[in-house]
Amino acid sequence: MYKLPKVLRSLAEGFERLPGIGPKTAARLSFYLLSVPQSFLDEFSDSLGGLKKRVVRCQTCFGVDEETPCYICRDEKREEKLICVVESPLDIIAIEKTGKFKGVYHVLGGVLNPLQHIGPDDLKIT
Ligand SMILES: [Zn+2]
Repeated sequence: MYKLPKVLRSLAEGFERLPGIGPKTAARLSFYLLSVPQSFLDEFSDSLGGLKKRVVRCQTCFGVDEETPCYICRDEKREEKLICVVESPLDIIAIEKTGKFKGVYHVLGGVLNPLQHIGPDDLKIT
């Protein structure tokens, strides 16, 4: 039986822990990374390693940025009284891509779901 080198096995196991990635995809991604330039790997690992250290929740809108308040909340051209309430920071990306919304956001951090016991107290409503 073929045995992967330890570093490849460890990397594949890391990918497998991500949502939607099974063993075959994890192995394929790991082998793919063997073919990319070292500079890409350095940048990629730096991004990965710094992810939780550098990204913070905006204390105003609960979106994400590298500082709080986030760049949207700091933007004086935004209409503060026009608030778009969204479920997650990913929703902000989709809306910002349109370039049409000039207001600010409020991220709830989820949606009400009584079946999963997610009530108003679990959301960022205030
Ligand atoms: Zn913000």
